[in-house]
Amino acid sequence: MHYSKPFEHKSIFQNTMIEKKQAKYDKAYLRMASEWSKLSYCNRKQVGAIIVRDRMIISDGYNGTPSGFENCCEDEEGLTKWYVLHAEANAISKVANSTQSCDQATLYITLSPCKECSKLIHQSGIKRVVYQNGYRDTSGIDFLVKAGVIVDQIKELD
Ligand SMILES: [Zn+2]
Repeated sequence: MHYSKPFEHKSIFQNTMIEKKQAKYDKAYLRMASEWSKLSYCNRKQVGAIIVRDRMIISDGYNGTPSGFENCCEDEEGLTKWYVLHAEANAISKVANSTQSCDQATLYITLSPCKECSKLIHQSGIKRVVYQNGYRDTSGIDFLVKAGVIVDQIKELD
């Protein structure tokens, strides 16, 4: 008797529908991250991040100084203060300070993560990163891919 392996649980049509729906949500979350970036007080670069888990937004962040410090991100020479937290680091920290967890979550971010934040992203349990603009240094992205995190870029948000 011949046993054939069953086909994919869902038909190609169903899968296409799911992908289309996912792409729609991905863009909407990225647009939110973009809105969040506008809240940043940093003059040099404004970055926004949203963390989604089980189809729920569990955190958000933009690059800026830690709570309790004055909002200005640059010193008199226009250089970014060393203690400014990147958007994703702020969003992950917010989760750490809550009852939520980043495990299996997706991070939406307007700029591809730097190598320092990539370590945090992987270690926090985030499983997917969707970003809009690519940072010139790709070490962060390279690290994430190596760590098994799914990385997607979506340039057009409409
Ligand atoms: Zn960073």
